Amino acid sequence: MKLKQFLILLDILEDTLSSGLLDTPALKLRNCYHRNPYTILMTTLLSLRTKDENTTIVATKLFNELKIKTPHELLKIDKEELEIIIKPTGMYKQKTQTLINISQILIDKFDSKVPHTKEELLSLKGVGEKTANIVLNNAFGISNIAVDTHVHRICNLLGIINTQDEKESSMILNEIIPDTHKSKLNFTIVSFGQTICKVKNPKCDECIIAKYCPRDKNV
Ligand code: SF4
Repeated sequence: MKLKQFLILLDILEDTLSSGLLDTPALKLRNCYHRNPYTILMTTLLSLRTKDENTTIVATKLFNELKIKTPHELLKIDKEELEIIIKPTGMYKQKTQTLINISQILIDKFDSKVPHTKEELLSLKGVGEKTANIVLNNAFGISNIAVDTHVHRICNLLGIINTQDEKESSMILNEIIPDTHKSKLNFTIVSFGQTICKVKNPKCDECIIAKYCPRDKNV
């Protein structure tokens, strides 16, 4: 598939999402909590290796019900209590410690603010490439593409890339996709992968871009 056609498909999928036709786990997560750079960073860390549905439960509790907005406020919660809150996302002891450690570092080194350069974000233990890209994109509007399993799989399926792993996909997508479409790519493709183009039993009959899909033909 040519880049130009892929960008058009991305626009079509984004329009479908904006019109509310797809109520996706990613959309529910995005809308479930008060967002600022700190809560976006914490939520992204909570979302690692779990479903958005589980992250939504925890983000709602922490950032809506308990109204946590800053590292200071998070650190006021007792560690055992925090572990119980975070438990639905899995790996809760490790994630609790990561959230505590990073909150403390933000206070000590960054004036309680989330840094907005990739280098500084990656200096926080527990923050990897994907998390840094999501935070730069969602918290600071810095265009880049965070690649997860959906983005890697679907971009390869559509033939815009031909890569072996998420790291390679991230490198190539960030090179070839124009800034106009970088910010929307992750959220749009993830939502599409969660609801229509699923790994198992994709809903090709309901797929709005089916006629362009190279799955069964050469496009
Ligand atoms: S037609 Fe099926 S495989 Fe192709 S993009 Fe749509 S859901 Fe995915």
